[in-house]
Amino acid sequence: MAAIRASEPRPRPPIPDSPRTRRAPSVLDHPGPPSHSARLACVVGTSYTGSTLLALLVNAHPEVLSLGELNGAMSRVLWPAYRCSCGAPLGDCDFWRRVSEAMHRRGFDFGARQWNTSFTLGTHALTRHILVRSLGADSLDRARARLLARSETSGGRLREIGLRNAALVESVTECAGKPILVYTSKDPMRVRFLTGFSGLVPQVIHLVRHPLGFVSSDLRHSQATVDASVRGWVRRQRQVLRLRRAFPEDRWLTVRYEDMCIRTEQEVARMLDFLGATTPDAWIDALMGHEHHVLGNEMRMRWPAGVQMDLSWRTRLSGADVRLVLARTELLRRGFGYADLDPLFQ
Ligand SMILES: [Zn+2]
Repeated sequence: MAAIRASEPRPRPPIPDSPRTRRAPSVLDHPGPPSHSARLACVVGTSYTGSTLLALLVNAHPEVLSLGELNGAMSRVLWPAYRCSCGAPLGDCDFWRRVSEAMHRRGFDFGARQWNTSFTLGTHALTRHILVRSLGADSLDRARARLLARSETSGGRLREIGLRNAALVESVTECAGKPILVYTSKDPMRVRFLTGFSGLVPQVIHLVRHPLGFVSSDLRHSQATVDASVRGWVRRQRQVLRLRRAFPEDRWLTVRYEDMCIRTEQEVARMLDFLGATTPDAWIDALMGHEHHVLGNEMRMRWPAGVQMDLSWRTRLSGADVRLVLARTELLRRGFGYADLDPLFQ
């Protein structure tokens, strides 16, 4: 497990909170307790940060279910070739067929090509951006959510999507026989909308990866420049930290990709404890040989294969790139306690 060749760094201190920015918990002004029996945790962060690995790890636990992003985007784009991690084409997977039936029983049409679980409004890119993307300030995002909730058309549409998400959470947990669901959509705005329009009050796992690792993976998969990539990392982390202010301590957990690779068992135990799942003594056995139906990147098809940290930034990024990334992210990295991993990133 955790086959990393670099020497193990010294134990790190807990990731510090920022007292200047924390305030009284609000959970986005949610009016009451959760109205559903299934428990939901949402993973937030950037792409290329280990969320498929996280999904596979926690899904090994008998009480925890993680099915990936649950927005239908990949199956829509790659249809009909897209396969579930069990190997079956998504339309033929028995688990997802049973989920469709469970959704039908709850009054929702649902299928491999018909998810409709994304909180989208408007038909044009600009309208969509104004209506559902982050406006860059917590006060603006919350004011807009209150306005949308009062609008008959937009509020009705968002409540409909919210109910559909709540029904999907109940359906997948029922079909899997597991009470805790971990979403890995990574989008902080999705957490805001879920909290405001579904009746669910999620826990949040902030999954963060060192920016050198993120930028390297981003460049491998996209046409982004180093400059644009690092700006994207910073923008998303700030968005996540704004969301964090609305959550009480006991509903928020920060997990670093590197710790998942270096101290896999301990980090999974920490996540299970946060999720309220009991950690069985022999969980590592379950970890390596269980059934899963994860929708995400190609790593889901290779499990189990051990956990290996991707350090390809060392060859992919030039010295100037590394200096640019480190200079632009210094404060955030310090906030996430990355000083203890400096030996890995030099
Ligand atoms: Zn499957």
